[in-house]
Amino acid sequence: MFPVFKIFEKLFKVPSGSKCSECQSLLKDSECPNMDCPLKVAYWIARWCSQAGLNIPAIDLPLAKRMARLHLVIHPGELYELSEGDWQRLDDVTGAVKKEAKRQLEESKNAEHTALLYGFRIDGVDADLAKRLVETFGRISRLRETKAEQLQAIKGVDECVAVAIRKWFRDSFNRKMLKILDRNGFRFD
Ligand SMILES: [Zn+2]
Repeated sequence: MFPVFKIFEKLFKVPSGSKCSECQSLLKDSECPNMDCPLKVAYWIARWCSQAGLNIPAIDLPLAKRMARLHLVIHPGELYELSEGDWQRLDDVTGAVKKEAKRQLEESKNAEHTALLYGFRIDGVDADLAKRLVETFGRISRLRETKAEQLQAIKGVDECVAVAIRKWFRDSFNRKMLKILDRNGFRFD
């Protein structure tokens, strides 16, 4: 993970018993438990668009925040299905930035599986581990079918991370996102 994200995540953490500054949910272990929290969505979008992810620099954290707060996106897959009307709602973003963002989004469909896996934001899977997992299993489609015990043979994968990977691919919200990505030209096998 890039240091800049570590800083953002640190800033995001506040003492327990408090409420999320963004969506007012009661924090759990200093984290907002609301999956639809615009701030959480924005960090996910920013991670997806980072250099270690799908490399879409035109969509930075401030733009990701605006998109999330306008409820234009709830996961990265939705970036690829923004309508003209959606883009128009981002009225403080210049036409040049929008054009560049759309071009970079199109180009990102050719991203390596390592970048995709990092962008999925699976607990415990940073850029290095994403690389090792893809080196070992080749494709995301194969990783998706891999049992927890086999995953644990990889350096950096303990029981927790293995379970997190298995859970991520079984989660219905994530599966919906994978479907949207598939429909937009991403290939996982
Ligand atoms: Zn929140």
